[in-house]
Amino acid sequence: MEEIAVKVAVRIRPLLPKEILHNHQVCVRIVPNTQQVVIGKDRAFTFDFVFGQKSSQEDVYSACVKPLVISAIEGYNATVFAYGQTGSGKTYTIGGGHIASFSDELKGIIPRAIHEIFRNITEHHNTDFHVKVSYIEVYKEELRDLLELQSTSKDIHIREDEKGNTVIIGAKECEIETPDEMLSLLEAGNAARHTGTTQMNEHSSRSHAIFTIYLNQKQPKNGQPSNTDEEHIIKESERSFQLISSKFCFVDLAGSERVTKTGNTGERFKESVQINSGLLALGNVISALGDPKRKSIHVPYRDTKITRLLKDSLGGNAKTVMIACISPSSSNFDESLNTLKYANRAR
Ligand code: ADP
Ligand code: MG
Repeated sequence: MEEIAVKVAVRIRPLLPKEILHNHQVCVRIVPNTQQVVIGKDRAFTFDFVFGQKSSQEDVYSACVKPLVISAIEGYNATVFAYGQTGSGKTYTIGGGHIASFSDELKGIIPRAIHEIFRNITEHHNTDFHVKVSYIEVYKEELRDLLELQSTSKDIHIREDEKGNTVIIGAKECEIETPDEMLSLLEAGNAARHTGTTQMNEHSSRSHAIFTIYLNQKQPKNGQPSNTDEEHIIKESERSFQLISSKFCFVDLAGSERVTKTGNTGERFKESVQINSGLLALGNVISALGDPKRKSIHVPYRDTKITRLLKDSLGGNAKTVMIACISPSSSNFDESLNTLKYANRAR
């Protein structure tokens, strides 16, 4: 059996204090000891992972992201993305908020992955690691560099190299030596994220944000010891090395809410349509990847910026986890149902 290309998790956030205050009712639940989510009276969906209102950041990280971090260190590309309507917990889950204000326990996926990567680096004495990061966002089908705000979207282009790797020309890639350096770039990028105002949520995220960690490793072949013992010094040029490159993309997608719901008109309407077409294209790609007949069908990567960006990080040898985030409140029933349907299609 071929391994499943995309695994899907659903996370239900708790009711927020404001929702409790307004007496919101809960309309989703997890069937105990199963991977089933039930919405409303009896609409059931099954996923690879389900996380209820009481699940912690650590629960989510260790079950669905940690294995991908290990794979990335072994040389595979990996992607985790958060999908869901605005306010459903995407940024909280991915770890893209104002991280310095969170205690360790409440930190999301990216800070945890960063620590895990550096822990591994210090354990692999024989390997020479080079780590870089980039952080970009896609807003209205234009790219913006969150680590270099002066550059304009015209400076940044998506290309595919001869090996089929996606390269972002013109995006800043910062070399990193410590977890703290990486965390401060993440924090700076988070602060620069594009936000707009809609009737639905004042700080609603209208853009997709992609934080990428690039790992380049130089390893002695077949575990040859890196010997500094005087008798055994091998000249650098005579030793054989293998180079391993991989990357890990963390994607905080734009809110998936439907256009009409937010009462948008004009520019806002156009923006919503562009967001929704990106999410739709991504859904099509993922569902094509999960199709057992996928060898014969066309995978529609080229349709939008977000799918082009993620092309070498979805499918093939890449490992992907989608975390669908939902609100438990019955006032969000329709959007939660839409999210569950989207996530279900990805399986
Ligand atoms: P989104 O990025 O999808 O718009 P956020 O991540 O900003 O949503 O979450 C909306 C609100 O809900 C924030 O105040 C956030 O702190 C809170 N929240 C989200 N998920 C959880 C959770 N699992 N536990 C506690 N609070 C959460
Ligand atoms: Mg957000």
